[in-house]
Amino acid sequence: MTDRYGLVGKPLGQSKSPIVHGAFARQTAQDLTYELIEADAFAPAVDRFRAEGGRGINVTKPFKLDAFAYATECRERARLAGAVNCVKFEGDRAIAENYDGVGLANDIQRNQGFPMKGKRVLVLGAGGAARGAMLPFLQAEPKLLFVANRTVAKATRLGEEFGRHGNVVTGGYPDLGDEAFDVVVNATSCSMTGELPPVGAAQFGKDCLAYDLVYGKGLTPFLRLASETGRTRAVADGVGMLVEQAVEAFEWWRGVRPDSAPLIRQLTVPLA
Ligand code: NDP
Repeated sequence: MTDRYGLVGKPLGQSKSPIVHGAFARQTAQDLTYELIEADAFAPAVDRFRAEGGRGINVTKPFKLDAFAYATECRERARLAGAVNCVKFEGDRAIAENYDGVGLANDIQRNQGFPMKGKRVLVLGAGGAARGAMLPFLQAEPKLLFVANRTVAKATRLGEEFGRHGNVVTGGYPDLGDEAFDVVVNATSCSMTGELPPVGAAQFGKDCLAYDLVYGKGLTPFLRLASETGRTRAVADGVGMLVEQAVEAFEWWRGVRPDSAPLIRQLTVPLA
């Protein structure tokens, strides 16, 4: 029987997830469908999908916290993030995970070739995506993880919650001064509206990676600033993160791990 999966959020018009999971299903010969479930309210839509036999969902804006509340059990990453991007249904159980940060860390370290161990890593932003990245980043054992956010209290809170997992420093953008980093991640939503987050050119260290979580928008103001310093070894957008979190979800749901590389190639928009 064909198993049903889907993505719950609103709006979903731009979502690439059905393409990604459809390709993974063909690649691994899994009999499944993946649909877009655009909903005004999370729980009723998910209850309906489960009643119709749905096996699992991904969750995106604005429902990552609703999914956390809905879950009957949360795995460690989802629990620490306080947000959920993937749920597996087993009878009455709704088991929740958060693969956003793992997908991001895997893309940076494996695909982009920037292992974070012993490196200085800067995360701009302290919203849901940054929160999900905290544990996977710290598990990569960077020398320093600096989280800078416009609303300083949100960064401070991340430091308090995750400081026991590694060397976390938090602050506002002015606190960055002239400090340079090996990996600079834009986890703000600034690129969605073509804005530059308030980061300085000094933050891009020699041979660094500049990584923007937004994807499909070409060279964002953040990536352009990084490129123009002449010091970056690579710039990347979040398409690899999208595909890598889907790899993790697919493997968890189906027990077989698809190859991300063909999909990343297919979905990449040139950064120019
Ligand atoms: P949130 O809304 O939770 O957080 C937004 C963050 O951006 C906050 O830290 C906020 O700061 C900051 N911000 C917004 N506007 C400004 C501004 N003008 N100046 C400075 N900082 C600003 O969003 P998410 O964390 O969920 O998502 C962040 C980005 O990551 C989005 O663009 C999203 O599309 C992308 N994303 C990509 C994924 C992928 O698979 N590639 C997966 C998940 C997210 P403050 O706290 O002060 O408001």
